Amino acid sequence: MRLRNITGSREIIADCDYVVHEPREHKGQWNEVFGNDNPIRIEVGMGKGRFIMDLARMNPDINYIGIEKYSSVLLRGIQKMEADPLKNLYFIRMEAEEITEVFGTGEVDRIYLNFSDPWPKDRHAKRRLPSREFLRRYDEILVPEGMIEFKTDNQDLFRFALEELEPAGWHLDQMTEDLHHDVQMMQGNVMTEYEEKFSSKGNPIYKYIISR
Ligand code: SAM
Repeated sequence: MRLRNITGSREIIADCDYVVHEPREHKGQWNEVFGNDNPIRIEVGMGKGRFIMDLARMNPDINYIGIEKYSSVLLRGIQKMEADPLKNLYFIRMEAEEITEVFGTGEVDRIYLNFSDPWPKDRHAKRRLPSREFLRRYDEILVPEGMIEFKTDNQDLFRFALEELEPAGWHLDQMTEDLHHDVQMMQGNVMTEYEEKFSSKGNPIYKYIISR
């Protein structure tokens, strides 16, 4: 996903109004950034932003924030926003590890994790976005009834994610090992860039929805 050597991507981002540049300053006050009290939903690791932009377009009464660590990738989202600006969507360039420094307790209504990097080596398990370490962070920032929706084509990562739920105190609400053939869970499904790529190759898509 990382697009290397895009000259000046950091400079373009620094000038961009769709990106919140000092996100820590808004901790606990994101409603002021949006100018309303609508619920806030975030995608962690949004890539080029197709999924979160589609959601924001479909749901103008919900606020969205897309988080991405690489400027070269985020730049693609910015270019799409320039062509089709959305008032209910902002981007942040940051490492997800810092998420509790950016959002206050119970400030986020829902979290989306889509095709998160698998980090296959055991010693990197803590870096996986559905790991218990991350679930603890999400627990802090989510409203009590908040949910996490996770999709992946990676069976090992999905199994790992399921095993993390109980130790971290989360409850499995819904799951499928073949989303695109699951009539119920497929209702209202919004495709991500990676989802289209992998499902078109015939890979099954795994999905869970969890809450506390
Ligand atoms: N969610 C998109 C999709 O489904 O099409 C992109 C998936 S891509 C495989 C994963 C993205 O997550 C990459 O753009 C990567 O840079 C970003 N990412 C991975 N770990 C991250 C982290 N710790 N903090 C922020 N972004 C991260």
